[in-house]
Amino acid sequence: MEEIIYACKEHVEMALDDIVNDEEKAPVITKIQQEKKCGYCNEPAEYEVKA
Ligand SMILES: [Zn+2]
Repeated sequence: MEEIIYACKEHVEMALDDIVNDEEKAPVITKIQQEKKCGYCNEPAEYEVKA
């Protein structure tokens, strides 16, 4: 199953760790323009981290 986590720049490393732990493969980080919220705080997300 594909997993996507949105993260601000403060939490992007946490998102990477979570993806690696859950999926056991290298995540893909994409800088996003859409209005998304970070999955760890309420700041606007800057990155999409995808397994
Ligand atoms: Zn955050």
